[in-house]
Amino acid sequence: MIELGYDYPLYRPPSEANSIIFQVTLGCSFNKCSFCNMYRTKEYSEKPWEEIKNEIDLVSKSYPQTEKIFLADGDALNLSTSRLTQILDYLKEKNEIPDIIFLDINMPKITGIDFLKSSKTNANVIMTTAYPAYAAEAYGLDVLDYLVKPIAFERFLKACNKAKEMREMKALKGTTGNQPNKTSDHFFIKCNNQIEKVFYADLIYAEAMLNYVMLYTNTKKLMVYVTIKSLEEQLPANIFIKVHKSFIVNMNKIKSIEGNILDIGNEKIAISQSLREKVIHQIVKDKMIKR
Ligand code: SF4
Repeated sequence: MIELGYDYPLYRPPSEANSIIFQVTLGCSFNKCSFCNMYRTKEYSEKPWEEIKNEIDLVSKSYPQTEKIFLADGDALNLSTSRLTQILDYLKEKNEIPDIIFLDINMPKITGIDFLKSSKTNANVIMTTAYPAYAAEAYGLDVLDYLVKPIAFERFLKACNKAKEMREMKALKGTTGNQPNKTSDHFFIKCNNQIEKVFYADLIYAEAMLNYVMLYTNTKKLMVYVTIKSLEEQLPANIFIKVHKSFIVNMNKIKSIEGNILDIGNEKIAISQSLREKVIHQIVKDKMIKR
């Protein structure tokens, strides 16, 4: 049984049972809430990276079965963006990846949006915030759900169930490998309480729409609860390409490219400026007839 270098008092509500807590900060940088005496005996400080790293190393060896990790003390999100992403990246490297991150928008040193932009985490992110205005931007950064406070329990439960389903899908993917079976010409996806078979050749493009993705096939539209990032990872890369943060297209369906506009099916889809060079190279690759 190992003991991390905990600085007491340390508070653990019952909901955190059977989990690991890392004190990445000590005390609370605010420490002024009239109803809270938790950290009155501590002066706020941030733990040095070497200490945090050693504790993660220790836990990854001694408790490889850990399923949940909490960062403490009072306000771990007061850490700088670079330190927070350093911690998450190291946890990921050690396979101690959180399943879910509940993230606010308005935080002391970093906004939730900036955190999403700079983190490489693969965890499912559920926004829990008082600010509805950032929903579209957050979904564009692949959050799983966006809960606006005050959050009804049923809504919270729905978001958690969605995260659980996503985790199970990822686990299944882990047992079957990341890439789909190369000899297969189709995939299955959950939609409207049934499992739909979709042929790669029929799927024209996919569009991210807030907390779901719409698949446009030759004959129908399918609304599926999956993130565009996860879909991109599971579709064969030799057929499908992400051309914009909200669009994945079937390269075989592209009729022409004009500037940054793809003519596909009966639609025109814009390639994002940052991806343009990579996307056009991938689409035309060895197929361009030279002079
Ligand atoms: S730990 Fe939370 S509740 Fe307590 S003083 Fe700090 S911010 Fe307030």
